[in-house]
Amino acid sequence: MSLIVHKYGGTSMGSTERITNVAKRVAKWARAGHQMVVVPSAMSGETNRLLALAKELAPSTQSEAYFRELDMLAATGEQASSALLAIALQAQGVESVSYAGWQVPIRTNSAYTKARIESIDDERVRADLEAGRVVIVTGFQGLDELGNITTLGRGGSDTSAVAVAAAMKADECLIFTDVDGVYTTDPRVVPDARRLHTVSFEEMLEMASMGSKVLQIRSVEFAGKYKVKLRVLSSFTPWDIDINIEAKSGTLITFEEDENMEQAIVSGIAFTRDETKVAVLGVPDKPGIAYQILGAVADANIEVDMIIQNISKGGLTDFSFTVNHADYAKTIDLLKNVVVPKLGAQEVVGDTKICKVSIVGIGMRSHVGVASTMFRVLSEEGINIQMISTSEIKTSVVIDEKYMELAVKALHKAFGLDQVQA
Ligand code: ASP
Ligand code: MG
Repeated sequence: MSLIVHKYGGTSMGSTERITNVAKRVAKWARAGHQMVVVPSAMSGETNRLLALAKELAPSTQSEAYFRELDMLAATGEQASSALLAIALQAQGVESVSYAGWQVPIRTNSAYTKARIESIDDERVRADLEAGRVVIVTGFQGLDELGNITTLGRGGSDTSAVAVAAAMKADECLIFTDVDGVYTTDPRVVPDARRLHTVSFEEMLEMASMGSKVLQIRSVEFAGKYKVKLRVLSSFTPWDIDINIEAKSGTLITFEEDENMEQAIVSGIAFTRDETKVAVLGVPDKPGIAYQILGAVADANIEVDMIIQNISKGGLTDFSFTVNHADYAKTIDLLKNVVVPKLGAQEVVGDTKICKVSIVGIGMRSHVGVASTMFRVLSEEGINIQMISTSEIKTSVVIDEKYMELAVKALHKAFGLDQVQA
């Protein structure tokens, strides 16, 4: 007997009919003798609907008190779908009980709308499992030290599921979603994209951080830290598909490199339009400018991704970096009003029409020339590279957003990702 965690996304929970399907699938796993914990998302569209209501009432409020209420509000979406799933399971003749985050409890810090899980008490859940019940743990929400309801950020029920799996030392965590696994790139952009049978945890982390929206990044971090066996698979197969086939479907996130049977050098191409570029021009080049610019940005809670400082000419240099779209206006403001006067720089410029394209693969560790292949492919397509950053298993470039599709397609082909591998 194994302890298995299932997570079902919003589309899988999108109607009573689909919830019944989820219940039948879970019942099948329970009847096969597994102890089952299930973490559902809110019904698709529900979180957006709730947050839009709040925005209607208070279009520009940003206070702590407001964020607290946003979490009270958004958490109801998952609470409803959890109770509905428990009811659907009972209707299938399976004993089932649902718990809100505070009833488990799942404890988090107090960072409303983006709280982090600190601990999970598994006693209550375990007692129900021992008694033969399927336990539904409400995703996306938790409880802070002061007893307030918190939420974990958009897509956060992935993290709830992995965290519950880690806390309970589950044998496997299955993330059921509306795609059938992790692909070499987004199939909507490259129709030849292939599903990966396995992907290493580190590759998944890079892909999740760069626009592959299959898993919330924190869930991947959690899986890595606690070595949770994690699989992404489709909830749109018939519910009565053979459980042994289902258990091997989708994409498995692996930890051991040699377990990775697909020995590709590059495993995937990730891309995102979420970033923008800002630059401080004509900064007097002296020790401490990176600290003064990026320190101010960090103090404003703005996350920076790629950074470039040019060689100085005549004692002046240019300093550029990328930030998320959502932080763009705030960053330009800060640079103009605080940083430029303080450093005696000349000018601040920005560009929102950029994208970041990355090649990801643990094979890059042991192969040289991978990045240069990327640069060659882009130059053959006449695409200008504005920024470059590399890590052990990733090379990213910033390019004009109008070339995004062209770049992704060309790279996907150049690295043989359209070819089926043994
Ligand atoms: N319902 C939340 C959201 O839409 C959490 C989740 O679905 O994972 O972001
Ligand atoms: Mg999701």
